[in-house]
Amino acid sequence: MNAPLPVLEVEGLTKHFPVERGVLRRAVAWVRAVDGVDFAIDPGETLCLVGESGCGKSTVARMVLRLTEPTSGAIRLSGTDITTLSESAMAPFRRRVQMVFQDPYASLNPRLRVGRIVGEPLENFERLGERERAERVGEILAKVGLRPESANRFPFEFSGGQRQRVGIARALALRPELIVADEPVSALDVSVQAQVLNLLMDLQEEFGLAFLFVSHDLAVVEHIGHRVAVMYLGRVVEVGPKDSVLAEPKHPYTQALIAAAPIADPRARRERLVLEGDVPSPLNPPPGCRFHTRCPFVMPRCREEEPKLQATSDGHLAACHLLDRA
Ligand code: SF4
Repeated sequence: MNAPLPVLEVEGLTKHFPVERGVLRRAVAWVRAVDGVDFAIDPGETLCLVGESGCGKSTVARMVLRLTEPTSGAIRLSGTDITTLSESAMAPFRRRVQMVFQDPYASLNPRLRVGRIVGEPLENFERLGERERAERVGEILAKVGLRPESANRFPFEFSGGQRQRVGIARALALRPELIVADEPVSALDVSVQAQVLNLLMDLQEEFGLAFLFVSHDLAVVEHIGHRVAVMYLGRVVEVGPKDSVLAEPKHPYTQALIAAAPIADPRARRERLVLEGDVPSPLNPPPGCRFHTRCPFVMPRCREEEPKLQATSDGHLAACHLLDRA
């Protein structure tokens, strides 16, 4: 039997933003925000994209939704290449991929009642009558743990966690296959974060949802992820099953992230690896290994030759020349 197609595949995904100057707005330089990223997500799976602020993870998420146009590379949804589809040709795919935003305050229109916010996608895509729509909205609100009468209230009447539940309900309305969640709990109180993560996991189980989950917080990733892709300066430097990557990180950058953010997994190895210096500018990434300016294990080869992702002994992939010595 053939394996099911991945819900999402990205191949060589790249985004270079121009830095424009002068009246004619000529591009004088390029910010290489994302520089050749590959990954796939299976149905019902959560892939977490992690890395420091500015590593390109949110740009990847926006490209998957075609909110930002890629410079090059391919995005496939269940095998169909959507990278260059026109807006009208994209319409049937739009409903299959939905987004949950970071800020539950800014992402909901304060002037609309919750019933309208959650019902709008149904109105746009399914042309349901008012009664049917209200029923569906009530069902969806119940799925995310909100009472049916919430439909008549405005976003400001809810707490942060409840507002994020409204955002999740809106994303769920069209029964998507994939939800792209960009730091969906980072604006919430710690006490509420676990509730929202558990809700997302319950919904995943019930609807077979796949998640592309962007986060800088390894504790969150540890909680919700099946697989993890670690990004540094626009590239994936380590990727694989969560347990393998977090317990046996092979890339020095992943090791430093884990050392800096204690996670609950007692098997995780914690070597004190403290990074010095800032992330270099994506305007001019270092040659060779992009991490070499901060890596405590840098070798002469690292300054010239970019390491490729290769299999580690623990069943995941990492891009580091140290693997050749193992
Ligand atoms: Fe460090 Fe070299 Fe590995 Fe890059 S390739 S992470 S500089 S050891």
